[in-house]
Amino acid sequence: MRVHCPYCGAEYEAPDYAQYLVCPYCGTVLREGRVFESVYIFEPRLDKTAAFNKALGFKPWASPRDLASSAAPTGAELHFVPLYLYYYEPLKDLAMYVTALALEKPPFYIPEEYEFPTRWRMAFKPSLERGAVFHQPQLDPQRAWERGSKRYLKEARNYASAFKIAVADKVSFEGIVYYPFWRLRYTYRGKEYVAVVDAAEGDVVYMEYPVSRRGRAASLAAAATILMGSALVGAVIGALSHPAGGLLAGLLGGLAAGVGGSAGVLRYVVERKAVYRQDRAVELL
Ligand SMILES: [Zn+2]
Repeated sequence: MRVHCPYCGAEYEAPDYAQYLVCPYCGTVLREGRVFESVYIFEPRLDKTAAFNKALGFKPWASPRDLASSAAPTGAELHFVPLYLYYYEPLKDLAMYVTALALEKPPFYIPEEYEFPTRWRMAFKPSLERGAVFHQPQLDPQRAWERGSKRYLKEARNYASAFKIAVADKVSFEGIVYYPFWRLRYTYRGKEYVAVVDAAEGDVVYMEYPVSRRGRAASLAAAATILMGSALVGAVIGALSHPAGGLLAGLLGGLAAGVGGSAGVLRYVVERKAVYRQDRAVELL
């Protein structure tokens, strides 16, 4: 459906089933045709420059030493992703505010179990000069809670079983919270890379980067070791089983096996881009 924002006048598209309509330009939320007031925000504590410094000074595995000095920032967008805020009362004497991501598919990588802080949020007021992208919730509060509450439920059950009390699992929806991330782009030796930095806490959550010459050399050495190792094993086995002329055949056979075994390693040497994700091992593309 087409939506007309009563605050900034923008027109935008939102899915027909959406309960909460978020203006992508000013963040005004509509619910059933009216401005929805229970909206909060985590103010970004990092500006564009601070975010670039975090990313380029981060130094993930095998990143080049001169990344911070040789990389050139080429773009930065501030994104606000919507979280739902709940008041969760799992036990009679235990209550807390918790959040869950209101998106099924975030606009960039966010770790699945990302721990958004719940404290220090402020009441949100739309502004005409914010210049950020506000994202539309894709899940309703019930569904987002089912997806995002597992760890809270687990904690509450552990606590309850330790004290031999019953879990009440009372939860109420309290509103929408905007959480800021910087999506950064930079170039290094003519190639472009993307990084995502938590703009409230300053953590690098995702970063593409070039693998340094040193990192590639280490991979190459590993590949060569595998090649020589299997050639040698092949030669020994060959010599033992066919004393006459077995050495050469064994060496060739061993080499062939080695090439197969190290193909994965060799691929790492040729490709030069790596991806860091906060909750996973570095991946080479
Ligand atoms: Zn608006």
